[in-house]
This record gives sequence, structure tokens and C-alpha cells, in this order.
Amino acid sequence: MEWLPAFAGMSGEGMAVEFDVLVIGAGPGGYVTAIRSAQLGLKTAIVEREALGGVCLNWGCIPTKALLKSGEIYEQLGHLTDYGLAAENRSFDFSGVVERSRKVAAQLNAGVGFLMKKHKIEVIDGSAKLEKGDPAPKVVVALKKGGSRTVQAKHVIVATGARARTIPAIGLEPDGELVWTYREAMVPKACPKSLLVVGSGAIGIEFGSFYRALGAEVTVIEALPRVLPVEDEEVSKAAQKAFEKRGIKFRVGAAVKKLSKEKGGVAVELEAGGKAETLKAERAIVAVGITGNVEDLGLEAVGAKVEKGHVVTDAHGGTGVRGLYAIGDVAGPPWLAHKASHEGVHCVEHIAGFPSANLTAPIPGCTYSQPQVASVGLTEAQAKEKGIKVKVGRFPFRVNGKAIASGELEGFVKTIFDESTGALIGAHMIGAEVTEMIQGYALAITMEATEAELHATVYPHPTMSEAMHESALDAYGRVLHI
Ligand SMILES: Cc1cc2nc3c(=O)[nH]c(=O)nc-3n(C[C@H](O)[C@H](O)[C@H](O)COP(=O)(O)OP(=O)(O)OC[C@H]3O[C@@H](n4cnc5c(N)ncnc54)[C@H](O)[C@@H]3O)c2cc1C
Repeated sequence: MEWLPAFAGMSGEGMAVEFDVLVIGAGPGGYVTAIRSAQLGLKTAIVEREALGGVCLNWGCIPTKALLKSGEIYEQLGHLTDYGLAAENRSFDFSGVVERSRKVAAQLNAGVGFLMKKHKIEVIDGSAKLEKGDPAPKVVVALKKGGSRTVQAKHVIVATGARARTIPAIGLEPDGELVWTYREAMVPKACPKSLLVVGSGAIGIEFGSFYRALGAEVTVIEALPRVLPVEDEEVSKAAQKAFEKRGIKFRVGAAVKKLSKEKGGVAVELEAGGKAETLKAERAIVAVGITGNVEDLGLEAVGAKVEKGHVVTDAHGGTGVRGLYAIGDVAGPPWLAHKASHEGVHCVEHIAGFPSANLTAPIPGCTYSQPQVASVGLTEAQAKEKGIKVKVGRFPFRVNGKAIASGELEGFVKTIFDESTGALIGAHMIGAEVTEMIQGYALAITMEATEAELHATVYPHPTMSEAMHESALDAYGRVLHI
């Protein structure tokens, strides 16, 4: 490795180079990058202005899953008689539900602190800003405890993440009370009786699912013609049906014209199919996408390019500015924790000259609603747009033994193969625990598996994963249990 301890050297400006790698932002992108950097023998520091673990551990992936688990248990309690069981007086303590979710987040936040210590990564508490420097931009940190510290590292990795996109011009901005983003929706004082969710991506659908499970009247408004618009069309349709069965209402193809606050509630004016409508509820959640934390960082001043709310990078996270990289949400979509970590590891391995896997592996996406949705690779429409002739397999859970035994009949598995090569190019699932199963297909696509390997793989019985096998068999006219 070319790595002589850089911290013993001096910058071109005569400033001591303290670290090989300095990471800005300790979300799943930044903190995982810092760990890998330390593993590679690089002297590493990380700057965090708020909480170790970033959005994911503190305000995103993890606390939402804790909330959703409470909602799921509560919903299941409503179906106990289906299983020959009974319990009286189903109820919940909303503050207890929120408190559990905060405890889970706190536990993981402390875990990241432990990992930083274990890997001897210096954590600098404060807000970072870039200035021109040598051999990389200097990082000036406004310290939480007061004062500032200027750090020169050989390499700086920006992993400052993203935040909820808002549209103040039409009232789609949080006020902390009636109008929420995910932050406020995570820690409300009480469960609203009615809720409007603007946006039917994963975040909007997960909150809609949670609040509906606890009894709120939920309406989801989506500008595009279908819910979970990034998913395969068949899955979107099935998902809408399943959510409607649980009582969630939808307005799709509906443009929000204005959100106004009223006494004790909100009103959303929308237009769908040429018709105007006004919906009212106690609270609204704005879930219309996210935007990168690119402001006040000095990015442009040091020569980095920012476009559509994210830093422009090359295949290794390089920004084109010597020694400056960007990874994770701030480097653009998909805005997912595992994408952020994967990109960060690749970036720092590239910096260290370590042979790193290319960033070509497909990135699975999951929505932890009831039922769950999970996918990896191309949708059928995307494959066709690329001119790929496809073979498509489908298998419903309603004829899968484990699903029947568990009373989890909803959903199906859809697989898409390239007809000319037999390669699996996409997989789409809706049903119970499909977020735990999608990894099998992610591995298959990464290993460039064809139908032959998927057919030859032995799936344990009884499991819901047998539907994954059957779907691959179905694509080739060999399905067994239909
Ligand atoms: C409600 C919700 C649910 C989600 N659920 C999932 C899920 O189930 N699965 C999934 O994969 N993804 C999920 N996500 C997305 C996921 O949280 C993000 O993709 C992930 O956190 C991105 O990681 P990151 O490290 O790039 O950024 P972040 O996690 O945003 O971390 C960036 C960090 O940088 C810090 N920072 C910013 N600017 C500065 C500065 N100037 N100086 C110092 N520190 C700074 C911030 O304080 C923050 O801690 C969810 C998001 C939300 C909002």
C-alpha cells in the first residue's frame, strides 16, 4: 500500500496532515466507511453534527421498523380468532410505542459509538465545512462544545446524507404540529384520528401502514398513476388492493394544489382526472421525496459540482476535486442505507488501492408495510424498455404450504429472466416477510445466475421461500404446485 502515515506529513500550506481519511457525516454511509477505512490501516476521523448513525439509525430505517412492529402485533391481535386464540380488550399505549422506538434507536446509536472506539476512529462532534486545502480540502469544524477546529486530511469523504423534500409554495412544509415530515411523524404525542399522507413512496406507505394499524383513518395521495411507483406495476396494483383491504384510502394521479392549516387540522386541495377535491384530516405527512444535504458545506467553493440536490461523483465517489469524495444519500439516488454503506466501502477501498468490487451489484429495495414489498433488478416494463425479451414467472403465496399454515396468504413472487441468456434480471415480491427473502435473488443476480441455477437450488420445506423456486420454475413452464 502507498500508505505512509500521512499524519506525520505536512500539507502544501505547511499545515499538519492529521488523518489519512476524514469522513463528514456518521450515517450508515459515513460510519461504515470510517470502519472500513480503519480496517485498511488508515488513520481515520469522522465529524458528526447531530447523532452517530445518521438518519437511518435515529430517524429512518430502524425506528420506523420498531413502530411498524408494534403496529403489526396490534393488527395481528385483531385476528387472533383465525388462529383459535382469544384475548380481550386489545389496546395500546401510544407513548409506549413511541418510547420503544426511541429506545431501539438509542441502542443502535450507542452501538455506533462503541464501534468508533473499537476501531480507534476519532469522532469530532460538530458541523463541518470545506475550504481549499492541500492535499485535499481542509475541513473546518464548528465544534458542538464551542470554538472551531481545522483539520487537514489526505482524503475527505462527504457523507452528509439528505432530508425530507418540502414544497413551501403549496404548503407542503412541516410546522411541527399539524404538518409533519418523517421526523415529526416518528415522535408525535398522540395517534391522530385521521391522517393525510402526501406521497406513496416507501416512507409514505410505511407511515400510512403504521398509523392505519393503530386505527387512524389514512388517505394516501399520489401524483403518479400508481402507488409505490418505483415498483413493478403488478406489485403496485396488488399493494394498493392489500392496503385498501386494511382500510387505507388512496387518491392516485392526484396533484396537490395546496395544503392549508385550519383549527386543529389540515385541508389538502387536490386535482385528479380534471376534478377538484378537498380532503381534511387532523394531521398530514409530507413524504414527497428527499433532497441532499449539500448546503453550507463549501462544496462549490472547493470546486465540487452540485446538481439537482446532490454531489456529482464518478464511479468511485470522486468529485473531480483532488482528495474529495461523496457517498450515500448526498451523492444521489437510490436513497437507501445499504446503498450508502456499499458505496462508502467501495470508495475507501478505492482510495486505499484495495481491490474492491465494482458498484454494479443490483440494489434491493424494501417497503416494510403490511404486506411487505421487496424487489431487486429490473421491472418488467424496464426490461422491455431496454429491448430485452423476457420470460416471466409468477407464484402466489396462497398455494404455499408455509403461507397457508401461517395464515399469510397475500401476495406473490414474480421473476423476470432474459429469454436469450436465461439470466435472472429482476425479482418482485409482495407478502409476509418478503423483505427477508429478496436477498436470495439479490445474490443470484450478483452472481449472474440463470434459471438453471435457480431451478437446481434446493429450498427448505416448508418455507415461504419455496415460492421463489416455484416462480423461477413457472417462467419456464415447470411450476409444480399450481
Ligand atoms: C422514515 C425513513 C425510513 C427509512 N427507511 C429505510 C429503510 O428501511 N431501508 C433503507 O435502506 N433506507 C431507509 N431510509 C433511508 C436511509 O435512512 C438513508 O438512505 C440513509 O440514512 C443514508 O445514509 P447516509 O449515511 O448517506 O446519510 P444520513 O443517514 O442522512 O447521515 C448523514 C449524517 O451526516 C450528518 N451531517 C450532515 N451535514 C453535516 C455537516 N456539515 N457536518 C457534520 N455532520 C453532518 C447528519 O447529521 C447525519 O447524521 C429511510 C429514511 C427515512 C427518512
